[in-house]
Amino acid sequence: MLLDAQWIKHTALALGFDACGLAVAAPIPHSQWDLQQWLAAGRHADMHYMEEHVDKRYDPTLLVPGAKTVISVLLGYKPSALMEGTVKIAQYAYGEDYHERLKRLLYQLLSALSDRYPDLQGRPFVDTAPISDKYWAVQAGLGWRGKNTLLVNPTLGSYCFIGELVVTLAADAYDTPLPDGCGTCERCLKACPNHAIVPSPLPAVGTQVDARRCASYHTIENRAETLPPDVKLSGYAFGCDCCQLACPYNVDAATRYQLTDADKERLGSLAQADEASFKKATRHTALNRIKYCQWQRNKR
Ligand code: SF4
Ligand code: SF4
Repeated sequence: MLLDAQWIKHTALALGFDACGLAVAAPIPHSQWDLQQWLAAGRHADMHYMEEHVDKRYDPTLLVPGAKTVISVLLGYKPSALMEGTVKIAQYAYGEDYHERLKRLLYQLLSALSDRYPDLQGRPFVDTAPISDKYWAVQAGLGWRGKNTLLVNPTLGSYCFIGELVVTLAADAYDTPLPDGCGTCERCLKACPNHAIVPSPLPAVGTQVDARRCASYHTIENRAETLPPDVKLSGYAFGCDCCQLACPYNVDAATRYQLTDADKERLGSLAQADEASFKKATRHTALNRIKYCQWQRNKR
């Protein structure tokens, strides 16, 4: 039995996803994904977990035996307003931790699929296992890999979370990648204060981020007591949106998150928060990924 692609997309949108597309689950051609070159150049800094399961990152059938289809989904997160203040936070971290919301919706989608297709086996992914989510979103026709190295969706810009369901049934129709929408634009490259967006060794891929230069890496992943003084944080204490704010697709992107007064109060209180208040205010948010000592270190 083949999966009904239209029914899956309709169901995904009805559940609350902003976009859904389908791709054939197959090994990624090594000429189309530059993970190995990124690792070989040391551009992953000390994110050594990226060196693990490289074979699986190139092949979803190693993650789900018998996989036939990757169902890729997006949730937009552009907030209704930017939080201004002395300490800046990447916009994706304004609301509830996206892992929790995406996972909840993906399990609902898997449940709907299992009801309709009892023979189907499937597994949801939300940063929980080594899968190349941007590649699969592109293959599923949800956007292109922008020069900012993120997925750019025509409606949501790069302000979107990506999740996947990898399932064991083939579909009656698959999507194809959208044409590149960056053209000659280089705004993100110019906006990066650290020149962290660099050419990829693979022409088909375009650009890579050198994490060793990236403020987002340093404010979130780097656990060292001090940060390299030459890396400009531009006022960010969690993440960095400089390249994304410059993107015309993001300027025009649909608002997908209504910033509440409670959010504003909670986020605004963080600049002066002690450890206990910081922990309380960041519970169930992406900010929970960093420790208070990192937060204090980043507020430079
Ligand atoms: S997140 Fe900031 S530092 Fe990293 S590539 Fe984008 S603009 Fe540059
Ligand atoms: S700023 Fe321009 S080059 Fe960069 S991702 Fe957006 S459209 Fe592409």
